[in-house]
Amino acid sequence: MSITVLHEEVEHLAAAELAARLFAENTGAPACITSSFQAEDMVVLHLIRKHAPDVPVIFLETGYHFAETYAYRDQMAKEWSLNLVNALPKTTVAEHESALGKLYIVDPAQCCQIRKVEPLMRTLEPYHLWFTGLRREQSPTRKNLRKMELHTLPTGTQLNKISLLADWTWQQVLDYCAANNIPHLPLYEKGYLSIGCEPCTTLSDDPNNPRAGRWGGKKLECGIHTFTEKETAPQA
Ligand code: SF4
Repeated sequence: MSITVLHEEVEHLAAAELAARLFAENTGAPACITSSFQAEDMVVLHLIRKHAPDVPVIFLETGYHFAETYAYRDQMAKEWSLNLVNALPKTTVAEHESALGKLYIVDPAQCCQIRKVEPLMRTLEPYHLWFTGLRREQSPTRKNLRKMELHTLPTGTQLNKISLLADWTWQQVLDYCAANNIPHLPLYEKGYLSIGCEPCTTLSDDPNNPRAGRWGGKKLECGIHTFTEKETAPQA
């Protein structure tokens, strides 16, 4: 199935308008969203469920998330009747730590590769539209994010990565959640600004850099948004 590739021409579209256009012009195209159940992911999910109520919600189940994240994931999956897909690594945490120890301390890049990147690569294979909650404001590594990018998985499979909120501010995210009665992951109330696996998430000491609390500031990305090859897309 070919996808109507819009790319640069969609940069000016508002999030809801872009979502509506993509689903209208790509009827039947397999779509998914990756979600860590942070506020941005909930906004994107709220927007696209209007067009695809059963969209697969891919959660990278590393085995290392906060208890609060698991509880919120399960609460929202039930309340919104989500088509939740837990993308699992090939090993349990017990098997992983038995073989490799606490890899998140000595080699977090390898740990993320095993428990996030590889499972995601496998899980994304069937999809043509991949929605994310990324925003440019979140990190210097995301400042050049486009709303629609063509990515190539290591197998050669190509898919369109869509970041409806690329140009949104954090305040816009909060306002959308409030206006639509979307509850927050409770960890925000404890001061966390960016929430991932528990061993690699601390409170950020820099309000201008929400991801400073991830991996002790040693890195900014787990790799799931940098492992694919991004290409200049053909225009429609
Ligand atoms: S975020 Fe930490 S615990 Fe989670 S997969 Fe990466 S290194 Fe491992």
